[in-house]
Amino acid sequence: MWRIRPQPQLSFALEIACLDLEGVLIPEIWINVAQKTGIDALLATTRDIPDYDELMGQRLRILEENDLTIHDVQEVIDTLGPLEGAKEFLDWLKARFQVVILSDTFYEFADPLMRQLDYPTLFCHKLGIGDGGRIEDYHLRMPDQKREAVKRFHELNFKVIASGDSYNDTTMLTEADRGILFCPPQNVIDEFPQFPVAGDYEDLKREFLKAQEAIQ
Ligand SMILES: [Mg+2]
Repeated sequence: MWRIRPQPQLSFALEIACLDLEGVLIPEIWINVAQKTGIDALLATTRDIPDYDELMGQRLRILEENDLTIHDVQEVIDTLGPLEGAKEFLDWLKARFQVVILSDTFYEFADPLMRQLDYPTLFCHKLGIGDGGRIEDYHLRMPDQKREAVKRFHELNFKVIASGDSYNDTTMLTEADRGILFCPPQNVIDEFPQFPVAGDYEDLKREFLKAQEAIQ
């Protein structure tokens, strides 16, 4: 019977690096849309409204009330770039791991920024766009897709090292073989002391190498 045998010379191919997007490689999209449109109500995050459906419902209602379409939002996003050093960090990571970005943003928002990052693999959600570019709805791939993706990679016999900056990453970090927090807020550091914290990309590189060594 055919069996999977470990092949040490191919060990690099057995690890996947899963990265969150906003706060790790690019700025927070909704915060920038709020700042650039001057609509303070769009500053609300899952910290203010923990129920994601309620939060997204509020965001879409505010866009509608202000006659903002997907084109207006994309115009704001077009003015953003990746965080300083993000592209170089991602290139470094891609040379050492297979990299998959797991994000709770939407393809329609992320696309202009993905171009600037050389189109890494991105798993995220999708918006429902109506006539004239009106954002009518949103479609989540599945609940807790970050964690589910890590589970599926494990089923495919990959080891996973994951990094993210906030609450919505902690199930992914817990599911991974090793999890690393990147520039998280203090409350996340306090609540999840089991994860090492990286304060910049050089730190994050070191933590990835440490994690890689630990799971060999
Ligand atoms: Mg994030």
